[in-house]
Amino acid sequence: MFDKVLIANRGEIAVRVIRACQELGVRTVAVYSEADRLSPHVILAGEAVLIGPAPAAESYLRAEAIIDAARLTGAQAVHPGYGFMAESPEFARRVLEADLVFVGPPPEAIAEMGDKTAARSRMIEAGVPVVPGSDAITEVAEGVAAGDRIGWPVLLKAAAGGGGKGMRVIESAEDLPRALSAASREAGQAFGDSRVYLEKYLSDPRHIEIQILADTHGRVIHLGERECSIQRRHQKLVEEAPSPAVDADLRARMGDVAVAAAEAVGYVGAGTVEFLYQNGEFYFLEMNTRIQVEHPVTEFVTGVDLVQEQIRIAAGLPMSVEVSPDWPLGHAIECRISGEDPFSGFFPSSGRIRALEVPCGPGVRWDGGIMEHYEVGLHYDPLLGKLIVHAATRDQAILRMRRALRELQIEGIRTTQPFHLGVLDEEDFKAGDISVRYLDRHPELVETGEGDWQARAAAVAATLLEHRTRVSGGGVTVTAASAARVTGAISEWRRRLGRFD
Ligand code: ADP
Repeated sequence: MFDKVLIANRGEIAVRVIRACQELGVRTVAVYSEADRLSPHVILAGEAVLIGPAPAAESYLRAEAIIDAARLTGAQAVHPGYGFMAESPEFARRVLEADLVFVGPPPEAIAEMGDKTAARSRMIEAGVPVVPGSDAITEVAEGVAAGDRIGWPVLLKAAAGGGGKGMRVIESAEDLPRALSAASREAGQAFGDSRVYLEKYLSDPRHIEIQILADTHGRVIHLGERECSIQRRHQKLVEEAPSPAVDADLRARMGDVAVAAAEAVGYVGAGTVEFLYQNGEFYFLEMNTRIQVEHPVTEFVTGVDLVQEQIRIAAGLPMSVEVSPDWPLGHAIECRISGEDPFSGFFPSSGRIRALEVPCGPGVRWDGGIMEHYEVGLHYDPLLGKLIVHAATRDQAILRMRRALRELQIEGIRTTQPFHLGVLDEEDFKAGDISVRYLDRHPELVETGEGDWQARAAAVAATLLEHRTRVSGGGVTVTAASAARVTGAISEWRRRLGRFD
């Protein structure tokens, strides 16, 4: 095992990796920007090295500064977390060239899976079902021919894309010329690679992904699926395991395909094979060659510590996982808590965290990257932390998440907490009747407007107040109709969630 690992990241994932290292008896080095002097990852790590000013391009994205920090502190390995340089084959290569271990797959596997058109061809060769689509397209005529073959509507995607960015639905051949030039220009600007390609646009799929682990001793396993269909603009908001749509047979079939996909590129470490699932068929979407934001739901339903396994595998040890026929154990749900206003188009919110109270109690986990007095700026991803719950059944997990969300108090900035409460109370979600179009079908969950926020404020305030009177032992049930109290609670809610200040 390593003696010391450097974590090339910030926020909740840096904290998560530090915790895994500490439990393995491995010393830790954090790196941080000037904006993150007072942050949990800096405080929890054994050592911390300042690598530059707030903008990520001048700190967390500076490979040289990070490698220098590892040399300076005598770290033997670099864990990239997710985001920043986690899926950069160049960064992985530079880490290896500096005689350090990269906690992740070989650079060649990152490169192969990072290019979506190359990954698609590789998967087709390996017999993995992919979404019907094309290779990279430069000419309109090529695109029209591909669209006619695949069937309209199609989705125009960037070969180097990620983060749900830059996808366009093209209804028919007439719309292609304009979309093609705009999309390739945008892709060039966003990803430094202007290649785009087409995929069949599935009308109402679920996003279901399989977690895999592969070690250097030839073992490749899957740990079941995560359901990630609750999305906004192709970005995940709520994830759960298992998926309400997956039974043991489908799980085994998708798992086998995911293992074959990983084997096809010589994968090592933790990775996720993403699929779209519609009408009983599943199609490879892409592979994420890193730990994912939503990994904790799998940890809950398997009992495996995925980050510890990543580190063990990087140290050349065999993974310590025993696959169990009892998986998945119960049900887990994760809500991403971001510094965004869900009722104003998820507009980013910044400011000082004035107070923070995190939920606990049975089956509750908070993976956070903030602390009281931390100044949330606009330089980084808005994810503040993740609330994850585990219970015997999906229904119980939903009730537990509602309870935990009500206990969570983040004062000082607006967060997505009230959005999640809305989802948990919505009938289709409760019935497991979800797809990636869920928010299109339920615009009320993110609606703005006077009447709307008042109704929502009253509902949330009533819930908060009910909860408070119960915990204080008052035993009084307060409904939205008890006007005076609700009005009081609305101002309390405003103060607490900082939404209307
Ligand atoms: P990114 O790498 O940018 O995250 P993905 O290819 O992983 O993009 O897709 C992200 C999301 O976009 C999916 O979960 C799904 O909601 C939507 N999506 C992607 N491809 C398709 C498709 N062919 N048809 C319908 N929706 C799609």
